[in-house]
Amino acid sequence: MEMARPLPAATPSTFTGDGTRPPKKVVVCGGGVVGVCAAYFLAQKGGPTTSITVIEKSSVACAASGKAGGFLALDWCDGSPLSQLARTSFQLHRDLARELDGHINYGYRPVDTLSLSLQEQSKLKSGSSRVGLPPWVDGPFSGVPKTIGTTETTAQVHPQLFTRTLLSKAVEDHGVQLVIGAVENVEIQDGQVLSVLVKKGAAEGGSPTIIDADAVVLALGPWSGKFGVLSSLFRVHGIKAHSIVLRPEKPEEITPHALSLSYTTNGKCLDLEVYPRPTGEVYICGMLEDDAPVPDGAEQVEPKGESIEMLKRIGETVSSRLSVGSATVEAEQACFLPCTTDGQPVIGQVPNVKGLYVATGHSCWGILNGPATGAAVAELVLDGQSAIVDLKPFSPLRFLRGHGRP
Ligand SMILES: Cc1cc2nc3c(=O)[nH]c(=O)nc-3n(C[C@H](O)[C@H](O)[C@H](O)COP(=O)(O)OP(=O)(O)OC[C@H]3O[C@@H](n4cnc5c(N)ncnc54)[C@H](O)[C@@H]3O)c2cc1C
Repeated sequence: MEMARPLPAATPSTFTGDGTRPPKKVVVCGGGVVGVCAAYFLAQKGGPTTSITVIEKSSVACAASGKAGGFLALDWCDGSPLSQLARTSFQLHRDLARELDGHINYGYRPVDTLSLSLQEQSKLKSGSSRVGLPPWVDGPFSGVPKTIGTTETTAQVHPQLFTRTLLSKAVEDHGVQLVIGAVENVEIQDGQVLSVLVKKGAAEGGSPTIIDADAVVLALGPWSGKFGVLSSLFRVHGIKAHSIVLRPEKPEEITPHALSLSYTTNGKCLDLEVYPRPTGEVYICGMLEDDAPVPDGAEQVEPKGESIEMLKRIGETVSSRLSVGSATVEAEQACFLPCTTDGQPVIGQVPNVKGLYVATGHSCWGILNGPATGAAVAELVLDGQSAIVDLKPFSPLRFLRGHGRP
C-alpha cells in the first residue's frame, strides 16, 4: 500500500501532539462505527478551528458497522481489560440516545436479555416450563431460560442507523467533511504525518488526491492490516460472520427481548444471537468462519449459502413467527469482525510517528465500544492524553519487543 512519490511542499505543521498546540487538520480513515465516533467527538471537542475529514472507501457503515447486531451491555466485559471502556461506552450510548435518538430514530432501546438452549428436530417435552419466555419464542427449548441482562444493563441500537446518524450530525452541526475514496497511503516525513493519498472512484476521474493532515486516525477495521505502517507492528485479521434480517408479519407480537442462543444440531453446538429491533425487524447472527480471507472491499464480502440457510432454520426453530411464510427475508449478509492477536482493541498513537493514531480490533464489541473509543481518541489527539478512559491496555506499544506482552 505504501508508495514513494514526490509531494508538493505542505505548510509545516505546528501540531505538538501533547495538547499544547492541537492539530488544525485531522483526517479519519474509515467510515465504520469507530471512525465515525472518532470524527464526531473530535469535531465536538475541537470546535471550528479544527477541520475534520472522514475518508471512506465504499459507504458509511457498509461493513461490520452496518451488519452487526447492535447489542450493548454494561457489565459483560467486567473482569477483562475492556471493562472501563465498555461501561463508559454504555453510558455514552445512553447520553447520545437522549441527545439524538429522540429527534432521529436510530433504534436505541433498553432490552431484557435471555440465554436459551435449543435443539433442532426435538419436540417440546411435556411438562417443560415456559416461565420467563416471551410468548413469541415458541420453539423446542431445553433447560430453563436464564435472564442475563435487564433494561438497566442491556440495550440495543440499529448499528447502521446509529453510525449514519452520528456522521450526519457531525457533518451538519460541526462541518465534518465526508470523502468517498480509498486511502492509498499516509505520507510521513521526518517522523511526522504530512498527508493522506486518496484514490477516488471512476466517476471523479479515478485520480489520486492529496489531503494535507497534521493528525491521521486509522480506523479501517479488518482492513487495517493492509497498511504497512500498522502491519509492521501488529496483526489485524478478520473473522467472517453471517447474519439475516427478517420482517415478521406482525412485528407488534415480538417483544423487546434479546436472545443469546446455544443451538444444538447434529451433535454440534452453535452460539447465535437473535435481536428483535424497534424498526420491526428481527436480526439473527452467528455462523463464524475463521479462515475466510478479507477481500479488498466491503462490497465484495459474499455470504455462504449454507450458513444463511442454517440461520433461517434457526429462526423458524426459535419462533413460528420467524418461519418462511410468516416473515420476509430482508437481508442475507456477511461481514468481518476486526481482531488482534491478543483479542484486545488497539487504540493509541502509532509509535515513532507524530500525528498518527490507530483505533481498531474491537472484535464483537465495536458497536458498544465505538463511542468511548471515539471520545478517548478525540482527547488523545487534541489534548495529548485521554481522560475519559485509560488507554494503556490498548496501546500499540504492547506489541513492541520489550513491552511485556507479544
Ligand atoms: C455478525 C456481527 C455481529 C456483531 N454484533 C455486534 C453487537 O451486537 N454489538 C457490538 O458491540 N458489536 C458487534 N459486532 C462487532 C462490530 O460490528 C465491529 O466491532 C465494528 O463494527 C467494527 O467497526 P470498525 O469501524 O472498526 O470497522 P468496520 O465497520 O469494518 O469499518 C471499517 C471501514 O473502513 C473502510 N475502509 C477499508 N479500507 C479503506 C481504505 N483503504 N480507505 C478508506 N476506507 C476504507 C471500510 O469500507 C469500512 O467502512 C458484530 C460484528 C459482526 C460481524
